[in-house]
Amino acid sequence: MTNLNDKITAFFRPEILALNAYHVPSAEGFVKLDAMENPYHWPPEMVEAWLSKLREIQPNRYPDPQPESLKNTLRRHAKVPETMEILLGNGSDEIIQILLMALAGKPEATVMAPQPTFVMYQQLAISLGLNFVGVPLQSDFSLDAGKVLAAIKQYQPQLIFLAYPNNPSGNLFDETVIAEIIKKTPGLVILDEAYAPFAQATFMDRLNQFDNLLVMRTLSKLGLAGLRLGFLAGHPAWLEQLDKLRLPYNINVLTQITAEFALANANVFEQQTAQIRSDRTKLFQQLQKLPQVEAFPSAANFILFRVPDADAVFHKLKQQKILIKNLHPAGGLLTNCLRVTIGTPEENAVFFAALQSALPL
Ligand code: PMP
Repeated sequence: MTNLNDKITAFFRPEILALNAYHVPSAEGFVKLDAMENPYHWPPEMVEAWLSKLREIQPNRYPDPQPESLKNTLRRHAKVPETMEILLGNGSDEIIQILLMALAGKPEATVMAPQPTFVMYQQLAISLGLNFVGVPLQSDFSLDAGKVLAAIKQYQPQLIFLAYPNNPSGNLFDETVIAEIIKKTPGLVILDEAYAPFAQATFMDRLNQFDNLLVMRTLSKLGLAGLRLGFLAGHPAWLEQLDKLRLPYNINVLTQITAEFALANANVFEQQTAQIRSDRTKLFQQLQKLPQVEAFPSAANFILFRVPDADAVFHKLKQQKILIKNLHPAGGLLTNCLRVTIGTPEENAVFFAALQSALPL
């Protein structure tokens, strides 16, 4: 077996051996408030209509490699400007990977993002052998314009990821600072608008103003996380090149048909996301009243908050079968921070009661 270990060590690049796998804990039997999912399913008649739609599927055939009708539905849904194109991904995770693959093999290429942010930008950049530079956010998780612009000047990044709103902090970065970053970046800026359904802020309508901006979206947070469908919107000339890196059949038939069906019933998701936004306000106000808790304002479907001892609170909630995200291990600005996804009013109440009893008096 030592021999096997030697073979494995010799096979992988040291950066891969040093990576931690993206850890998704089992949530069987838990109140699941750790992954920014929409907690609601669909009305029974909608489920029935969907099941009849699924009869049209031909599982023996490959999926449509360029599903134009689905793309048009997504364009309308996301108000993509007429002159812009879209590229579909198996979740926005895959789009991040496609963007980074475009740079793999360019030894001088640097990828940049503020930190803390969504971990996959760095994880995938490193796994593809790219240089990654994280620029620290300020203590309220806002962008430090001076620091970011200085880092852009120093590293001349080929690719910058900005999550808008940011995960795990939930805030929207200042749009003037974002515009400045786009203007000063020699390469591409990706605005990751995964949480758009909760933010009511977007750069989608500003794609025409910048020739190095692409906007990324996903259906995951809207309520379709199981489908794995994300997309990138931007100038056709950028997307034409990126499309060469996409696997031809990356969006399976079940996803194609279900996404179209779901978006034809967009009012259901609008009601659900409006409910989540209003429950976010309620939970935020409750958290703000707890003297031991510092809650950060959120434009997403989750709230980041700091407690005196995050590990202790996390474990006490887990004992009560409530799963949230413990960000304390990341350290830095996230020291003693926890992130809770907005669930149903009942789930939020169970969480809040458990949190109160888990906090020191
Ligand atoms: N971007 C951000 C900012 C996220 O938080 C997430 C998921 N947590 C993603 C992208 C990935 O979403 P998906 O692959 O489900 O589209």
